[in-house]
Amino acid sequence: RIPLLAVDGGGTKCLAVLVDDSQQIVATGRAGSCNYQGIGKELAARELEAAIRAALQEAGVRQETASADEPPSTRRSIDRQTRENSPALGKETLEIECAVFGLAGLDTEYDRRVITEMVVAVLQKLQVHVRHLLVENDGFAALLGATNGEPGILVIAGTGSIAFGVNKAGETARSGGWGHRVGDEGSGYWIGKQAVTAVLRAADGRGSQTVLTDLLLPHIGLAHVEELFNWTYGSEYSVDKLGELSLLVSQAADRGDSVALGILERAGEELFLAARAVMERLGMGRGPFKMILQGGVLQNDERVRTIVMQRIRSAAPQVVIDKAQNEPIYGVIAKGLAYLKGRTERH
Ligand code: BGC
Repeated sequence: RIPLLAVDGGGTKCLAVLVDDSQQIVATGRAGSCNYQGIGKELAARELEAAIRAALQEAGVRQETASADEPPSTRRSIDRQTRENSPALGKETLEIECAVFGLAGLDTEYDRRVITEMVVAVLQKLQVHVRHLLVENDGFAALLGATNGEPGILVIAGTGSIAFGVNKAGETARSGGWGHRVGDEGSGYWIGKQAVTAVLRAADGRGSQTVLTDLLLPHIGLAHVEELFNWTYGSEYSVDKLGELSLLVSQAADRGDSVALGILERAGEELFLAARAVMERLGMGRGPFKMILQGGVLQNDERVRTIVMQRIRSAAPQVVIDKAQNEPIYGVIAKGLAYLKGRTERH
């Protein structure tokens, strides 16, 4: 019996960990994005399964090798030595006391139904029986874990973006994070998209020349701006890949490129707007609260982070900003441990 399975599934990667009775992580499994809004239900389920399977294998409780129809990310993550050292426990059902899933793409009640079904099917396939299953949005799960009952706001800007808050009374609210097609302002994807647009605008004369042109084309392996346009409608394009381009925007900004600096500034403003909307809706403007900044964009780009921090400090001077060295998975784990503790205390 394993006490806790925690899964953090964002727009780029899915991380599954198993936690033992002494609250230590005993195994970790990784796979690609499991946001069904970005890659579809089938692929999302496969990545989710791959991450959990890899964690089970590392813990030595599953012996099967990755099947040929599994995504390449799994095959990479299965360490040969682990496989060889794992005791074969066969195919019997494995008991897990509590599983917490924090998954990007859970934005509405409809999503909750779709994703819960997907999670249940994956667990069944892996022959894992979970006694208490919690399925939440990635930001929500990480927030509740990180704030531990105190008021707080979490802003994620990874491939996608979202702001989630909880006030003293335990009420919660979200803002932004409406996916790549129509939302996710300030996210890696959004920054990448702005970069492509900026290159096209520079080429057709509507925008200023930008170093982004020199960085983006060779990065994707293209020779001309026109090819960049075709790339966005071709089979190579993915939400993930566009998100990756945000790193090039940071590089261009390091070189003083004003177009790139402008994109990052707008990203910071957008993330602040989402945080402020949550703060206002939850009436958190007066008392102290914790603010947590997570995701690749906020972790890697000082400029975006500084704008969000400065703007929130002037809107709410009592804020305590925690730059969250911790990965979101620790919030998901904390949420699971709090749930298990609550259950023990009630009994
Ligand atoms: C998704 C949200 C998610 C956010 C941060 C968005 O693309 O729609 O569900 O919380 O990214 O990962």
